[in-house]
Amino acid sequence: MPLDEQTRLTRNSFQASSLGRTVNPPIQRGSTVLLPDAASLYDDDQLTYGITGLASPTALQTALAELEGAEHLTLYPSGLAAITGALLAVLKAGDEILVVDSAYKPTRRFCDRVLARFGVTTTYYDPALTPDALMALCTPRTRLILLEAPGSLTFEMQDIPAIAAAANARGVLTLIDNTWGAGYYFKPLAHGVTLSIQALTKYVGGHSDCFMGSAATNDPAIGQQMADAMWDIGWSVSPDDAYTMLRGLRTLAIRLPRHQAAGLEVARWLQDHPAVSRVLHPALESDPGHALWKRDFTGACGLFGLVLKPASDGAVYAMLDNLDLFGLGFSWGGYESLAIPCDPQLKTRTLPVSLEGPLLRLHIGLEHPSDLIADLDQGLARLKG
Ligand SMILES: *Cc1c(COP(=O)(O)O)cnc(C)c1O
Repeated sequence: MPLDEQTRLTRNSFQASSLGRTVNPPIQRGSTVLLPDAASLYDDDQLTYGITGLASPTALQTALAELEGAEHLTLYPSGLAAITGALLAVLKAGDEILVVDSAYKPTRRFCDRVLARFGVTTTYYDPALTPDALMALCTPRTRLILLEAPGSLTFEMQDIPAIAAAANARGVLTLIDNTWGAGYYFKPLAHGVTLSIQALTKYVGGHSDCFMGSAATNDPAIGQQMADAMWDIGWSVSPDDAYTMLRGLRTLAIRLPRHQAAGLEVARWLQDHPAVSRVLHPALESDPGHALWKRDFTGACGLFGLVLKPASDGAVYAMLDNLDLFGLGFSWGGYESLAIPCDPQLKTRTLPVSLEGPLLRLHIGLEHPSDLIADLDQGLARLKG
């Protein structure tokens, strides 16, 4: 009997065997994955559901694992989700964790609001602690040390290899938020860190149009725990977003050196400006973290801070409001330059941050640095007046 039109409209879906070989993976959208026979439905070795394993997320995972030098890499729907997902995968009630006080602010929010409710205790530590002083904070319950270098907003460096080695010797895990290094200018796993996290939203995406995060490890048990947690929690990443990230990743190695060079040019110009007290940028020779940065990193991105000479909030906001080329907005790592005032965020830290003047953070995009310097020059002139 011929099929009814209502039925015919639901048939004739695309068959993979007719795919042409394009340069890029297909954006294979799918929740349901069809299996060849009934027995395959419950075969864990097969792709049975579109949560993981579709074409573009798998291609991205493979490419990022290569970048991180990792055997295991999990994708998350945002950078913050990579941090929270990795922590949820490895922690249990009763654990204690040590978190650097200069960590990305929403990381702290998760520790204080969520981990605390599930019986995980967080202690915030000074990024300036020596590895020995940091290890002295460990108790028998310390399960993990969270690092971020350079620190968010204040750009302190940490002795990552020494901390990782001491933690490994004690059986304590280490997790680093490596968004600034972008997986390109710093390789955490090669320096002994257990888990390398990135907000791909920043430089890998590179165009300020997509959220995603990754967590990479060479520990097979932790790799499995992270993969399992995706299913336990119910997260997945969109194949369209994975495609967008893969597109960004192709030019990461072209874009980052441009951000680095322009960032340093602007930073050096700011160092000599009379309205500026100091520039917080580990690639500057004058920076207290320079020696560590030079030893461990192979480059710098376009994100840094500057402390102004004392000025009122009103004067600082007027300066920012009058910048033409710098957008006022959170996030960074895109092709566009951005600026934010940081003082409201510093108030949430455990250890007091006393700077001699207002703190700004700049992201130097792919515009010509001369234009950015001219824009900052007219903005800073307004600050004085
Ligand atoms: C932006 C950012 C994140 C979070 O990324 P989202 O994709 O916005 O969730 C994490 N860590 C650092 C250092 C960041 O700058």
